[in-house]
Amino acid sequence: MNHFQYIDGVLNAEQVELSVLAEKVGTPFYCYSSATLKRHYSVFADSFPRGSLVAYSVKANGNLGVLRTLARLGAGADVVSGGELRKALKAGVPGTKIVFSGVGKTRAEMKLALEAGIHQFNVESEPELEALSEVAQSLNREAPVTIRVNPDVDAKTHAKITTGTSETKFGIPWSRARAAYALAGKLKGIQVVGIDVHIGSQIVDLEPFETAFRKVVELAYVLRADGHAISRLDLGGGLGVPYITNNEPPPDPQAYGAMATRVTKDLGVQLILEPGRLIAANAGILVSRVLYVKQGEAKTFAIIDAAMNDLIRPALYDSHHEIVRVNEPGLNTPRRKYDVVGPICETSDIFAADREMPELKSGDLVAILSAGAYGAVMSSAYNARPPAAEVLVKGDLWSVVKPRLEDDAVFGSERIPDWLQG
Ligand SMILES: *Cc1c(COP(=O)(O)O)cnc(C)c1O
Repeated sequence: MNHFQYIDGVLNAEQVELSVLAEKVGTPFYCYSSATLKRHYSVFADSFPRGSLVAYSVKANGNLGVLRTLARLGAGADVVSGGELRKALKAGVPGTKIVFSGVGKTRAEMKLALEAGIHQFNVESEPELEALSEVAQSLNREAPVTIRVNPDVDAKTHAKITTGTSETKFGIPWSRARAAYALAGKLKGIQVVGIDVHIGSQIVDLEPFETAFRKVVELAYVLRADGHAISRLDLGGGLGVPYITNNEPPPDPQAYGAMATRVTKDLGVQLILEPGRLIAANAGILVSRVLYVKQGEAKTFAIIDAAMNDLIRPALYDSHHEIVRVNEPGLNTPRRKYDVVGPICETSDIFAADREMPELKSGDLVAILSAGAYGAVMSSAYNARPPAAEVLVKGDLWSVVKPRLEDDAVFGSERIPDWLQG
């Protein structure tokens, strides 16, 4: 369910007309709906037992306006860098609701997180454990730790977002889990609190999740028998969303929550969840204007002013995004096939191939749907293009939560070396 609907022939974000926003903000811009964020967060959070921690995965969409919206609802944060940690704190997420994931935490980032008193570190290797132990001791603190284990379960999703098989860089191999916990148990400054697992992203089937969670529960009993205090299970994120235009609910967070609760209930642990895409994807769209409609030899190209530097998912993951007109097409509008492309000099700068849709003309506004997760956060200034602006809507209120950079800000920090001056 989302809050982007046609009202009187114009696509609205809640009660704000996107054509009006386009005039005021310029295109392209991302637009996020507070009501959709809230709905997705609530449906998800309500599917887990009281006392669970829903740590929103900041890397899906780390805009401070989005983070503050979720923090107000009670969300925690899953961060993967010192920058994300600082953003989560700035948005009002208390340190006690922050978990720190990622395979390459630096000592400086560990220090920052220890000083913020975070809920836990999800540690991904033995050398990381040793580094964390040293940093914690130097600060006279105990680092609460889960170890991310790799259950070698195929999440049956796109190869670039599979993380739980033995071929990927993530987690500690299953066969070494007990040894890694034994090491953690011995290290000063490390307090073992639980187990962490995250098998991938955009997973639309509960079965790989259940297989992984069952393995983790078995491991929890083994580790308890080894003398470790396993009081938390962090089950990661990864629940998929529908990348389609209608308003279907996301693939049943309740069923996911019920399954996770059932599989883990005898252990008596706190559950930690790290949803990202599920919360943000369908809460955001990318609005763009058609620059030209160009007739090729075999195809018709709709060239729009958004590009792969704004939204790289189609180029990176072959992902499908629905594209609709902001001005609602009439019933008699002819339909045509388009390749919807951006202006960047890369063949992969394409949002849709052979997409049949209502006729487009130069100047038309289009909305690329389901763009709220892994959209703006992955944007770049490739081709010296300023990334799209970001707007947050709440009811009839709207605010630019990230302005488009001026050219000076896009490349003004570059320097011509002394020896090339003059
Ligand atoms: C990316 C990531 C998430 C969020 O994944 P989604 O598919 O967006 O829910 C959660 N946890 C970890 C460790 C991640 O790397």
